[in-house]
Amino acid sequence: MQENLLIGFIVIWVALVVGSVMIFQRGKDVAKKRKLWPIYTVFSNVVIGGFIIYMQPPTIWLVAILVLLVPLTLLTIRSTKFCDSCGQATRAPFFMKPPQKCSHCNKPLS
Ligand SMILES: [Zn+2]
Repeated sequence: MQENLLIGFIVIWVALVVGSVMIFQRGKDVAKKRKLWPIYTVFSNVVIGGFIIYMQPPTIWLVAILVLLVPLTLLTIRSTKFCDSCGQATRAPFFMKPPQKCSHCNKPLS
């Protein structure tokens, strides 16, 4: 049972990575990317959270990590912008304000 759960996590994780490449790196539909990005980010962090719970770390670690995951998720969503011109994603480091310019074609981001 425990091993099935671990395999389940690995399968979901691989699907998330493949889905991310297909949707956010290869796709050209910027509107779709903007719509799916928060959903994708929240879902992948829920999976990470689930995996951490599965690992059963000491309670204090568990609480600290899960509490940290929430702002991290919000910041990941906020710090990633999709370019209208080339459709590529531009990410800023977590602690910085959202990117102003596309890192691929240098056009200003809305
Ligand atoms: Zn661009």
